[in-house]
Amino acid sequence: MPSRTPAAARARPSQGEAEAPHITHGDRVIDPSTGFTKMDLVHYCAQVAPLMMEHLAARPVAVVRAPDGIAGELFFQKHEDSDSMAGVLQLDPALDEGHAPLMEIASPQGLRSYAQMNVIEYHTWNALKDRIERPDRMTFDLDPGDGASWQQVQEGARLVRVLLQELGLPAYLKTSGGKGLHVVVPLKRLRDWATVRAFSKAIVEHLARTIPERFVAKSGPRNRVGKIFVDYLRNGRGATTVCAWSARARPGMGVSVPVAWDELDTLTSSAHWTVQNIGARLGTGNTPWDGYGQAAASLGTAMKRLGFVADEG
Ligand code: ATP
Ligand code: MN
Repeated sequence: MPSRTPAAARARPSQGEAEAPHITHGDRVIDPSTGFTKMDLVHYCAQVAPLMMEHLAARPVAVVRAPDGIAGELFFQKHEDSDSMAGVLQLDPALDEGHAPLMEIASPQGLRSYAQMNVIEYHTWNALKDRIERPDRMTFDLDPGDGASWQQVQEGARLVRVLLQELGLPAYLKTSGGKGLHVVVPLKRLRDWATVRAFSKAIVEHLARTIPERFVAKSGPRNRVGKIFVDYLRNGRGATTVCAWSARARPGMGVSVPVAWDELDTLTSSAHWTVQNIGARLGTGNTPWDGYGQAAASLGTAMKRLGFVADEG
């Protein structure tokens, strides 16, 4: 084989088009609680890739690596030094100066390349690379404080939805695969980061003021006991949230899955779907988020309704 390879095939492939990597140590156990292996992860990624690519496309992504499995140390990686990973693109260095470039998963091969590097989680920015200063969504991260039940998380998500509806904003729901839920508001790319972050903060503070027995806007474990903390800090420049269809580096390996609002009551936890039972959900795919793109909102009306004054530079 070696000597007869045509010159074109021997040439260094251009970035993102390198050969799919050979998987090494495929039988290594990643999750000791289930026996899930590295090769299982590779298969998982191949299965969800068609659905996950819709959420990854054109978006800077950070990854969580677990070189010693999920029981070992985890590494959160926002930049990519290597320019020769199949399916992984390095983005324009100007997007985030002073670091190695941000990266994008350009094809399902990128998931395989990163699985070979023991990457389990994928976290995306709230903006696309071609207009990085104008976020295309707001994310509300609902986290249960100590003693808050799953029923409270479900109720919290319903209440967030009601407020967003009153503001005239669309809202889409996904499990985090961990403990809480994520409510996502698609936006027209009109406002800057500071404005979107400040407005998302105003929404969360309004919630906490209106229903203080249920919600808290301040972080810190003691503020949260028995309540739902809604984190607006996911809406700053460079902040990330786990991508739909990403597995989580936690025991049992939950998966972040888009769900329809009328399914919310039927969910048993945020890790309702895991890498083990996801097969039955693949057919439903992204259909719970049908209409997401067309629903993208401008924020003017919502800001007026909430009495929020934008201070845009
Ligand atoms: P849960 O539902 O259990 O709250 P989650 O995905 O909402 O799950 P975490 O897993 O706690 O929340 O993730 C926290 C967020 O902070 C992640 O979305 C990620 O983007 C970011 N993050 C995680 N680790 C780091 C890190 N080491 N450095 C910077 N940001 C991080
Ligand atoms: Mn959370």
